Amino acid sequence: MFENKKIFVLGMARSGYEVAKLLSKYNNKIVVTDKKEQDINHIEELEELGVSFIQSEDPIELLDSSFDLVIKNPGIRYDHPLILKAIDMGIKVVNEVEVAYHYLPKDAFVIAITGANGKTTTTTIIYEFIKAMGKKVHLGGNIGYPLSQIVSNVKPNDVVVLEISAQQLHDCYDFNPNVSILTNLVPVHIDFFGTYENYIDHKLRIFMNHTSNDIAILNKSNKDVYESTKDIKSNKKYFSSSEESDCCIKENAIYYNDEKIINLNEIRVKGMHNYENIMCAIIATKELGISNETIKEVLNKFTGVEHRIEFVAKINGREFYNDSKATNVKSTEIALNAFNTPVVLLLGGLDRGHSFEDLKDDLTNVTHIVCYGETKNRIKEFADSCKVNATVVDTLEEATKFAYNISNDGDTILLSPACASWDQFADFEKRGEKFKETVNNLE
Ligand code: ADP
Repeated sequence: MFENKKIFVLGMARSGYEVAKLLSKYNNKIVVTDKKEQDINHIEELEELGVSFIQSEDPIELLDSSFDLVIKNPGIRYDHPLILKAIDMGIKVVNEVEVAYHYLPKDAFVIAITGANGKTTTTTIIYEFIKAMGKKVHLGGNIGYPLSQIVSNVKPNDVVVLEISAQQLHDCYDFNPNVSILTNLVPVHIDFFGTYENYIDHKLRIFMNHTSNDIAILNKSNKDVYESTKDIKSNKKYFSSSEESDCCIKENAIYYNDEKIINLNEIRVKGMHNYENIMCAIIATKELGISNETIKEVLNKFTGVEHRIEFVAKINGREFYNDSKATNVKSTEIALNAFNTPVVLLLGGLDRGHSFEDLKDDLTNVTHIVCYGETKNRIKEFADSCKVNATVVDTLEEATKFAYNISNDGDTILLSPACASWDQFADFEKRGEKFKETVNNLE
């Protein structure tokens, strides 16, 4: 617990605001700084609670040795001058998750999910499973609800499901989930962590306080996960899409401890990557006693997290999927591998000069590419080089209508643009919403 302390919060945004609110209840003196302008309502609310907010590009002079603690926003690099100064002065630096964790009831059951890909989806499936079991469950972390925001509602024996990023694990010390999941590892965020090895070391902190009483859920087929977790102290449970393990895929079904749980064709979401996310969720919730009936009930209905190969509608025999979160070629490859129907693919967006070549082996089912946005002409050239039919239009709305007009009964129409959205939209969410709106107006 943090009481009667002087606390410096570096970076406000959502988590800084929530942690300041939480800590203000415990007689702490708190200063929040951010280089950007913040929501005036949030600032006024904090000021009423006795918290000071200072907007500053260069807050370093505001930190002196009278402070007991610095709380760093996870997006700020750990070599930020103020952080280096705090360390130099012997002031402890933590993040919002670490602080909020200390306010959880001791017997709350915490499930934490990290990994390069699939965090939000796995977190959401686990949350849906536990809700369907009729247990009291709270959703939080990197998924948009900081732990500080939800912690006061958690009662003893409730379950807390947390999406955790590698950045959040950097300044965690006592955080110790009952179940920790590492979905997979691939080299990402190297700009932040410097090396892939350093990134992996951060991910492994999700197990740092584990004993054999705690569960680690690990991807057996991901070599880097398997190798790097050999020495962790947790009780290890493995899932795999390709080999025998605690939870795995055999004969077109998911098995757990050699018991068949569900046939793949009873699962609404598509793709091996989603089956992996589901296997993580099954192992985690079997620890809480979930029944196979509840698993089936949820998976029969779950259409995916918004903007991630999300089923939108079926119109005249065509199924529309929104994968607006696919802002790079790798994500589009994953999406294309999730379908075995003919696909009309909507590709395009911000031009970062990136190559589309890696898609060429994944176009087997693609009958037509509709190219739009800043990258439209480069995509057309790529499609021509692969001998796939392609048409250039300007906007996503035109692309959607065109795709519908040239498609056939049984086709999938997939928005998986392999580009960021910022040429025509504020973010990938707005792009996905526009696609869904256009599809729903086709009806
Ligand atoms: P994250 O929260 O880690 O960014 P999401 O659940 O939001 O992951 O999924 C984002 C994208 O990552 C998906 O649209 C899909 O392309 C890909 N993805 C999801 N799950 C996995 C997985 N288990 N393995 C590989 N890629 C995945």
